[in-house]
Amino acid sequence: MPLSWVVEDPKEKNIYWPSEEMKKRAWVNDPKIYEEASKDRVAFWEKLASEGLEWFRRWDKTYEWNPPYVRWFVGGKINASYNAVDRHVRQGKGNKRAVIWIPEPPNEPVRVLTYNDLFLQVNKFANALRKLGVKKGDRVGIYLPMIPELYPTILACARLGAPHTVVFSAFAPQALRVRLEDAEAKVLVTCDGYYRRGKCVNLKSNADEAVKGTCVEKVVVVRRAGNEVKMQEGRDVWWHEVTEEAGGWCQPEEMDSEDLLFLLYTSGTTGKPKGVMHTTGGYLTQAYWTAKWVFDLHDDDVFWCTSDIGWVTGHTYACYGPLLNNSTLLIYEGAPDYPAPDRWWEIIEKQRVTIFYTAPTAIRMFVRFGEEWVKKHDLSSLRLLGTVGEPIDRETWLWYFKVVGGGRCPITDTWWQTETGGTLIMSLPGIGPFIPTVAGRPFPGTELTIVDEDGNPTDSGYLVQVPPLAPGMLRGLYKADEKYRETYWAKFDYRYYFPSDGAVRALYGCIRVTGRVDDVMKVSGHRLSTAEVEDVINAHEAVTESAVVSKPHEVKGETPVAYVVLRKGVSPSPELEKELKSLVREKIGPTATPERILFVPDLPKTRSGKIMRRILKSLLINAPIGDTSTLFNPEVVEILKERVGYSG
Ligand code: ATP
Ligand code: MG
Repeated sequence: MPLSWVVEDPKEKNIYWPSEEMKKRAWVNDPKIYEEASKDRVAFWEKLASEGLEWFRRWDKTYEWNPPYVRWFVGGKINASYNAVDRHVRQGKGNKRAVIWIPEPPNEPVRVLTYNDLFLQVNKFANALRKLGVKKGDRVGIYLPMIPELYPTILACARLGAPHTVVFSAFAPQALRVRLEDAEAKVLVTCDGYYRRGKCVNLKSNADEAVKGTCVEKVVVVRRAGNEVKMQEGRDVWWHEVTEEAGGWCQPEEMDSEDLLFLLYTSGTTGKPKGVMHTTGGYLTQAYWTAKWVFDLHDDDVFWCTSDIGWVTGHTYACYGPLLNNSTLLIYEGAPDYPAPDRWWEIIEKQRVTIFYTAPTAIRMFVRFGEEWVKKHDLSSLRLLGTVGEPIDRETWLWYFKVVGGGRCPITDTWWQTETGGTLIMSLPGIGPFIPTVAGRPFPGTELTIVDEDGNPTDSGYLVQVPPLAPGMLRGLYKADEKYRETYWAKFDYRYYFPSDGAVRALYGCIRVTGRVDDVMKVSGHRLSTAEVEDVINAHEAVTESAVVSKPHEVKGETPVAYVVLRKGVSPSPELEKELKSLVREKIGPTATPERILFVPDLPKTRSGKIMRRILKSLLINAPIGDTSTLFNPEVVEILKERVGYSG
């Protein structure tokens, strides 16, 4: 627990407020909104749902709370693709740019999809999917990089009422397979290849390996890179072929507000990823309004959220949120530093990006490259910056503010999770304040607070959400109800939603989120469960058991380190270390590869047999070890101290 954090830092000189211009322009600029919304939070969201979205049928009941199960807008009928595309086209706003796509190869042309283009492609691809046998309720896997076809693909699923489950394109086949199996996906949409640091990544061959033995019946392949791929007769079809043949109108399904819109897998702490369930009406309401108010989207904005679609940030702010608002969003296919460390700044300059939303890990990387790369470009189009994914340190925040934002743009530090569907804690750009390392206040109409172990209010402790829950909250974990109850609800006796993060009170009623209190790492912005990595290492015949913990890393945020216990008779060797590292790389992906493998005789355990990761972590970062008397094998700690060179 982060109990030692300072409650507020009176030395903080860098407290910013919105400029008059920002205030005048912003959708919300009066702090009274917080008070007003809190008077009747259900009524507040009810109003937002009616004003922000077009419903086929109005709901009968606004909010239903049956702890720990929540339902919003019960009985309402709605369709996500209709709201993201059709209604703009009907209102004569179809010529507006919806998606600006920047390919990685600098000489390839930029592609633009207008809302009209999107409308046609969504309808056609929905018809194509239907012809491939996809019905309302069927799950569709999406394993695509950041390319334009992503949008008609996602929205076509929503049009048919077929929940999509997007899997990060840099995941290895095994990680994809686990998710496809759990979701029981019927169809997978992927592509031939894409560019990353100048190389063509053959995604189709990964997909081929992953779908073997799963219930995937059809694989739809987008032609992106034109690389050679094997198409399996009877199973594989080309995206452009099935789309060309299909009709241009597909009636959107009237989905129940509480029908599943998508499943998105987190890394999970038990090794098996959790399938977070998001339903339609509530998620769309929160996506629409948080996109509009937090990023202050106006008609002339170009919004670049750099998150990959494989993460929830990509879902809500590089897809649903901006599209529901008839905004222009920008996506980029490749690596941030390719062909040079100023690629991102060049894109912002050329495309006149106005709102830029990224992760601390990316900013830290650019800090290392040096500000001269930023200074080469005219970033005067920017008016608002955002950050998400992990706590941002003070130096990085100030660099982002001064070097990228020219001291002119507010930074909205948004706290949220896959589970929350949309941002929940932030400073609204027209209200502020903007303080380094401080996220802000709960979004109007939501209540998040800080409690101690017993659930009593405190200034430094566990972050919790107090019901009524925000409408975009998860409705459960797919096929893992017990886990849903345990992970988020049991700790505080079903009174509060517990996100597993710690927090402290900061100035002006703001909250500073101090980070997770569980066992998950965040490497270069990617969520990784220590257990998933351990599973792979443990599967090696030479290994008895292992424990993976993370240690802070200057650029990546965190990096995994593995403690490995070998089978009797097997001796440690550099070869074995290499073998284990490449096993992880191959099974999960390069970001998961441990920085170090420490061969050790044993692991510290509790009496109930649980590995004490807390101690393993303290050993690595030279932090106090604390009490070891409750351990089953305290003597092993002394051995490990020597092994890692502990000096704390
Ligand atoms: P899993 O749930 O599988 O363990 P994860 O929690 O890393 O994975 P996400 O939902 O992508 O998956 O990340 C949400 C977490 O990221 C939050 O719970 C919090 O720990 C951290 N986080 C996100 N935004 C912020 C922020 N602005 N400030 C501090 N921490 C943040
Ligand atoms: Mg989490």
